[in-house]
Formats: sequence, C-alpha cells, structure tokens
Amino acid sequence: MLKNIVVFIAIFLYSQTVEAQWFKNSFKVMGTQAHVEFWLESNEAKQDKATENIEQHAQQLISIVQGEMQRIDEAMSPYKANSELSLINARAGTETLKITPELFHLLQVSQKISRLSKGAFDITYASIGYQYDYRNQQRPNKSAIKKALSAIDYSAIKLDEKQSTVHFAHHNVKIDLGGIAKGYAVKRCLALLKEAGVTHALVNAGGDTGLLGDRHGRPWLVGIKHPRAAYKMAVELPLENEAISTSGDYERYFIEDGVRYHHIINPQTGDSARKVVSVSIIGKDPTMVDALSTTIFVQGLVAGMKLIDSLPDYEAIIIDNEQTLHVSKGLQQQ
Ligand code: AMP
Ligand code: MG
Repeated sequence: MLKNIVVFIAIFLYSQTVEAQWFKNSFKVMGTQAHVEFWLESNEAKQDKATENIEQHAQQLISIVQGEMQRIDEAMSPYKANSELSLINARAGTETLKITPELFHLLQVSQKISRLSKGAFDITYASIGYQYDYRNQQRPNKSAIKKALSAIDYSAIKLDEKQSTVHFAHHNVKIDLGGIAKGYAVKRCLALLKEAGVTHALVNAGGDTGLLGDRHGRPWLVGIKHPRAAYKMAVELPLENEAISTSGDYERYFIEDGVRYHHIINPQTGDSARKVVSVSIIGKDPTMVDALSTTIFVQGLVAGMKLIDSLPDYEAIIIDNEQTLHVSKGLQQQ
C-alpha cells in the first residue's frame, strides 16, 4: 500500500489571492483499483504559504479517502478472517449476533433490494458463491450446487433493528457484500470530501464511480468498458453529481468448454447469470446503483429494464449477448 503512486496534476491557476489545483491519487483496496480526484482552492493571501497548505490539505484528503476505503474493507471483506462479515458468517447460523449500525444498515439495504427484485439480488448467494475460485478455475459441481441451494434465501437473514442484531434461520447460510460494498465505500468517501468543503470530486472503486459537482465548468466523462475488448470503451457519458456502477461478466471469470463462469451468480440456479454481458446503472446514490447493477445483471434485459423503468431515480445501459446496447426510458428522452 505504501508503494502507492501519488500523482499531482498540474493545473495551476495563479492569481494574487486564490490558488487552485486538481489532485489525483490511485491505490489498491477491496481487491480492486481505486481512484480519487478533486479540485482544491486556497484563499490564502501569501502564495508560497498557500501552495504548501493546499498540498498538505490534498494529502490529508487523500489519506482520509484511502483510510475510509481500507476501514470498510477491514469490516466487510470475506477474505479477512477477523472482518465483521467473517464473524457473522462464522456465527450467525447458530446464534444471534449484535453488529455495528453500519453493517446492519447495509444488510437492511440488501434485504430491500432482494425484495424489490424478488431475489435476483441476494447476498446469501455466497452460500454457493464461496465454492467458486475464478483464479484457479474451480467451480462447484451439480450436486454441491443442489446441496447449497436451500441456503440461498435472503428471507433466512433475520434482522432486529432495535437490537441491531442478525441471525440466520438456516445453519449453512453465508453472506457476501461484494455487490454493494464498493458503492457504499464510494458514497462514504464522497461524503467525507464534501464535509471537508470539496465541491468537485470523483471517487472510483472498480466498476463504481461517484461524482461531486462537475469537472469545473464541464461534465465529467465516465466510460463504460467494452465487455469484450479490455482497453476499449463501449460508451463515454458526460455526468455531474451522479453515481454510476457497471457490472460485467469480464471482471472475474474463466471459460470452460466454451462456457463463461463469472462472479455474478443467479441465486435461483447457483450458476453464473448469462442473460446479458454488461449493466450500468446511473443515479444519485452510489450504494443503490452498485446493488442495482448486480441485480439487473441477474435479471437480464426484459425484467431488468422493467424494474429500472419503474424506479424514477435510476437509469440503465445494458449490453446484451449480441453486444447490442439498450438504454432505459429516461435516457431515451434526452
Ligand atoms: P458487481 O461487480 O457490483 O456487479 O458485484 C459483483 C459481486 O457481487 C460479486 O463478486 C459477488 O461478490 C456479489 N454477487 C454475485 N452475485 C450476486 C447476487 N445474485 N446478489 C448479490 N450479490 C451478488
Ligand atoms: Mg454491483
């Protein structure tokens, strides 16, 4: 982590009293690449002092963003034995556990999207999900899937809001927040930057991007990756004050006998969802767009568009198996 490269960009606007500058930083966290970019202004009268202060201030903000993402990773990673999520997975099948309000909140949001999508989004997908190992090209066989399917059931997660507790009504239930935690981390980081007085910022973690304001007089340009050409963009969108999340079958996968096994699982079958290849959701709330991109990916074009068109605050761009691009009604009107 210490080897992170800090890139300070070079747009200096000198005047007698105001100095302003873009700052950028990229780092690895939550098993992915994260990126932050923001505009800082200093109203100090003395220019030299201002430069020192603005750079110190930028470093501070970068540390806050990195620290926040790392903190969320420590709590929610399934790969860290001591994370709160791992503790829940180890014990909530047999006892009622008190959990932090933060994790409780994310479990509640996850339940809400599960109900909204009739189980297309289901964090208990992990009851089978943990038997996939994409790096080593391992997948569960049919009988392992069959055995695990009864533990894929979001209604088995019992939440008590007053006590802030969780209990799994089925012994073998496991949960995973990979479909929602990065969006939440982006949301938290944007809130911290805003609190610090920043008005133009971009925070990205993997396929999740959140924007504060515009890119100083012009919109931010956010790309949606081409699903079958690693370094190409399928689309670039001018956005401001929005969040966008993309779920794609090219992020973590292996191909066996011509079949693509990837990280987004249809909870009904325990197998990878294959109705579409890429789903991007645009809206104000980074947590929601993250969860919805995973949801719509599982639902596919017809049911997915129907759900998005019923939600006035969210729009979708879906790329189907023939690599045709489809956009939701709200985007067609623009
Ligand atoms: P994203 O990249 O946001 O689409 O999220 C993909 C991640 O969501 C996967 O790596 C899993 O951690 C998790 N996931 C996979 N399938 C589901 C599902 N059906 N419901 C909720 N989370 C899922
Ligand atoms: Mg997602």
